[in-house]
Amino acid sequence: MAPRSEILIVGGGVAGLALATRLGKTLGRQGKARITLIDKSFSHVWKPMLHCFAAGTVLNENDRISFISQASQHHFEFWPGEVISVDRAKREVVLSPFHASDGTKVLESRTMTYDAIVLAVGSCANDFGTPGVTEHCLFIDNLVEANAFNEKFRMEILKSFANSSKLDIAIVGGGATGTQLAAELHKSLEIVDPVSLHAFGKAPPKLSVTLLQSGPRILPAFPESVSAAAQQELERLGVNVRTSARVAAADATGFTLKDGSHVSATLRVWAAGVKAPEVTKAYGGLYLSRSGQIVVNPNLSSVDDDRIFAMGDCSFITEEPLPATAQVARQQACHLATHLPAWLEQGKPVPSCIFHNKGAIVALGNYNGWAAFPGGRVVGGGLMHGLSARMGHIMLYRRHQMELFGVFRGMASIFADWVETIIRPPVRLD
Ligand SMILES: Cc1cc2nc3c(=O)[nH]c(=O)nc-3n(C[C@H](O)[C@H](O)[C@H](O)COP(=O)(O)OP(=O)(O)OC[C@H]3O[C@@H](n4cnc5c(N)ncnc54)[C@H](O)[C@@H]3O)c2cc1C
Repeated sequence: MAPRSEILIVGGGVAGLALATRLGKTLGRQGKARITLIDKSFSHVWKPMLHCFAAGTVLNENDRISFISQASQHHFEFWPGEVISVDRAKREVVLSPFHASDGTKVLESRTMTYDAIVLAVGSCANDFGTPGVTEHCLFIDNLVEANAFNEKFRMEILKSFANSSKLDIAIVGGGATGTQLAAELHKSLEIVDPVSLHAFGKAPPKLSVTLLQSGPRILPAFPESVSAAAQQELERLGVNVRTSARVAAADATGFTLKDGSHVSATLRVWAAGVKAPEVTKAYGGLYLSRSGQIVVNPNLSSVDDDRIFAMGDCSFITEEPLPATAQVARQQACHLATHLPAWLEQGKPVPSCIFHNKGAIVALGNYNGWAAFPGGRVVGGGLMHGLSARMGHIMLYRRHQMELFGVFRGMASIFADWVETIIRPPVRLD
């Protein structure tokens, strides 16, 4: 019997978990390849929901998918850890030792061999070296950070209740993350409003959110009409939207802008820019973009090594730079799931991955949403807004769940979420 191929997938996010699940269902189930997923955490979350976890408007218990459970049901293996080095000559990776949350070492450093690696470690915000940001700002790039923000947000609300004071939050970055977070925070306090009269005998503190965007408009990836409408909607909610506001530094009291003005904020969030995690530098000296992303050919193989692939936010195609979105990550995962088996088994080259832009959707809490569709050859592009766009945004997540769970479990989890809305508080209060 021919030896099984070894495929390592590093990072179980939107792209990585979809690929592991699909390859598990084909190569893994047939015993043709050993597929191993490596992630630094134990569970997957749909990253476009992180701002809801941060605001406490979605409770993340139901929305975490256990890697161990998904692996056991879909014929792949899972190991927690981080790849700290890649020896491309020996085709080996070294995983860091694994520590429990109290710092105790649980697993020693481990070595794994591979026939192909797919890197899918995502991205994080980029502070472009702005002084004070690392020390004084919160980020919401992963579940740990979103939960940490939520804890601080709840504690500051409590303090404001006790002192009858205003709560100031400033968010840097007027892309989808910052814009959606501003609306979601507003929604959170609106829900707290009736609860607080009973719990604390007081109306909730006044929330003051400032959204700082260095460019001339928020949501620059959308048509201008969407940027203008979204800004209007945020301002209607009381969010102070400041465009062409470039941040020069952050400190414990707020942000100093390039024009010398100061924006005071008790909580400061950095949600601007995109860069790959630092760890990409340890991947065997692969060629990286200025933002640390792995530079790949149009077929997603690294320009330095055709046994190493990268997809999603951590990859960069020089010929056609793509936005860091879930849509790109998903399409690239589907492409590799389709073509890696023939490449491994028959040596057929992996063809170029052609990105089909299906449009973009943004939702401002339950207030409003917009979907922009590109023009086709036959029908022109278009815009949708309101409930249908918000539903479209929710459907992206539900489709992701269906793809990972299958239709029956996917439908069951929608039902379970609906039941939760009846028995759980609509916003996290403790
Ligand atoms: C708040 C927010 C809102 C967003 N809204 C939208 C939206 O509305 N629409 C849209 O299309 N996109 C949106 N995005 C962007 C979208 O989430 C990303 O483009 C998408 O998740 C990228 O998928 P990925 O698989 O490349 O990375 P991710 O989904 O980020 O997954 C990366 C995985 O790698 C793991 N990992 C990281 N480092 C290591 C390491 N060193 N070792 C091992 N594992 C590691 C992580 O734990 C994670 O599981 C949003 C992003 C944020 C933060």
